[in-house]
Amino acid sequence: MLKLLRKLAVEHCPTCNEIIQSQHSSICYTRACPHGHYTEETYSHLGVRIVYKK
Ligand SMILES: [Zn+2]
Repeated sequence: MLKLLRKLAVEHCPTCNEIIQSQHSSICYTRACPHGHYTEETYSHLGVRIVYKK
C-alpha cells in the first residue's frame, strides 16, 4: 500500500518522462508536465477531473 502511494505521488509524463509537477489553487488541484504534454485538473468540490494530453 505504501509502495502504491509513493508511486502515485511521483508520476512521470507519458510523453517525455519528465516528473509531473503539482499545484494547488483555491478552485482546483493541477498536475502537469513542465513541457505541457499532460495536464490534469481536479475540482474536488465538483467531483470533476479533467485530463488534457497532447
Ligand atoms: Zn512531457
